[in-house]
This record gives sequence, C-alpha cells and structure tokens, in this order.
Amino acid sequence: MSLDLILLGTGSPVHVGHRFGPSQVITDGTTRILVDTGWAATVRLVQAGVPPQSIDAVFFTHLHSDHTTDLADFLVMRWVGGVRQAIPIYGPEGTKRMVHGFQEAMAADTKYRLDHHGDKLWPGGLAADVTEIEAGEERVEVARIGDIVVEAYEVDHRPVKPAYGFRFEKDGRSIAISGDTNPCRGLLNGARDADMLVCDSMNVAMMRQLEERLRSIGNTAQASLLEDAHDYHADIKDMAALAQEAGVKHLVLSHILPAIVDEQAAQFVVGLDAVFHGKLSVGHDLERFSA
Ligand SMILES: [Zn+2]
Ligand SMILES: [Zn+2]
Repeated sequence: MSLDLILLGTGSPVHVGHRFGPSQVITDGTTRILVDTGWAATVRLVQAGVPPQSIDAVFFTHLHSDHTTDLADFLVMRWVGGVRQAIPIYGPEGTKRMVHGFQEAMAADTKYRLDHHGDKLWPGGLAADVTEIEAGEERVEVARIGDIVVEAYEVDHRPVKPAYGFRFEKDGRSIAISGDTNPCRGLLNGARDADMLVCDSMNVAMMRQLEERLRSIGNTAQASLLEDAHDYHADIKDMAALAQEAGVKHLVLSHILPAIVDEQAAQFVVGLDAVFHGKLSVGHDLERFSA
C-alpha cells in the first residue's frame, strides 16, 4: 500500500478563492493524519471525500493563524460526525493553550448541542489529547499513528519558535513536510532521500511585483506586511536547491506565495530545473500524490 498526500489548502494567510489555508492529509488508505488546519481545511476535507470523523490525529507545524484557525470547525464537525473519543493532537510548545482556547471558544455551542441531542452525541465534546513535542535539527520519532511513523525536526521560521517540519514513513516510503521555513539544516535532515517533499514556496520576484502593484493602488499597509514575509519564507529557488542536496525525488510546491493561478505556474517555477532535477509539481488544492 502506498503512502499518499492530499493537499487541502496550498495558500497563505491572505484569503483567495483558489488557494485555501495551508493543510494536508497523509494517508496509507487506513490511517489518516491531518497536518495543520489552515482556514477552510474542514471544507476541503469534505470536498476531498475525507470526513473529519475519519481523521486519526492532527499535527501542527507551528501556531501561525494560517495553519491553525480551522481547528474549531474541524473539532465540531468531527464530534457531530459521531466520533466518541478524544482526538490526538501534536504540536509545538503552546499547542495545549491554543487547543484549550478553541475548546473554550466553542463551549457554549458544545453545551447547546449536548442539551439538545442528549446521548446521541459523545459527552466528551471537543476533547483532545494534546502532546507538545520537542525536536532539534536531527529527526526524532514523535509518534506512531496506525502503521505510519512520524518524525519531527526543527526548522527556521524565526521569530516563530519553535517551528517544525514532519516526516511520515511507512514500508520504506516517505513524505516530508517542510512547514514554514528558510533553508536550514533541520529541513535538510528531514528531507534526506525523501520520496516526496511538500515545500513552503515563495517566488520573491513575483512577490515584489505584487507589492509594487499594492503600493500603486495605495495599499501600502498590506505591501509592507508582505515585505516582512520575506524574512521567514525562502525564495523557491533556494528551497529547490536544498531539495536537490537532500536527494528528494518529488518536490511538491505548496504554501504558494503569491497565490498564483494556473497561467502563472510556468513563471513561478522558472529556472528551478537548473537547480532541482527530480520531479516537480506546483500543488493545487485537493490534488493527490502517491509517494
Ligand atoms: Zn508561518
Ligand atoms: Zn504559513
């Protein structure tokens, strides 16, 4: 059985209709692991034919809003979907507080539904079993979900610290997820000889064009915020070079900045074939790949 990737959202914090918040599922056909819950991840799960109640565990790379805010919707839909046990959640330091906050935000809703539906719903509501993980630049096993081994490694998304990438392995197949990062030793270790790397992807030249366009229409505030994003997302060419050095076989671009449409894909990846010689895919929401 292969190890598959389902891209749910391939966008960034800024909402656009064609690339939703960063989120993906790793599955071997039996076990389903949700990595990050970016905005509208739960909608995408339903569209992908993966019911929220079928998810076995959730992993958070880091706690930026674009990777987390759909957790409330996910927990509610999973619960009303009939699950009667706590969801295992893994993430960096701060994950317990965040999960508790989402549960508190939904506390009135949870009570209304329990009062209304009685024991048709699990009284545990949105309960989660949260593990805050620790990892450095070397890969370390943090969980086994079904038959899938999960390793974590620290990446460089400063000032967001800690921020992690994950590597999922089963029967010699491997999928690494970069998380949000600049090229760094942790990612090099995490992606070493991986069958697939799902990679944070920013095209700096296209970002600069977008920033200039925003300035030209007077939106200097948003242009300035986008400029700050250059600090903690690397140019895609540097990431592709790292993937080559790591020996990655298939590089899947996600977290796409700026949020290009299909007609811009060739421009987005221009020059990458000079630095990365494996298979290259510009990811779309709801696209699936097998490792
Ligand atoms: Zn981030
Ligand atoms: Zn992000």
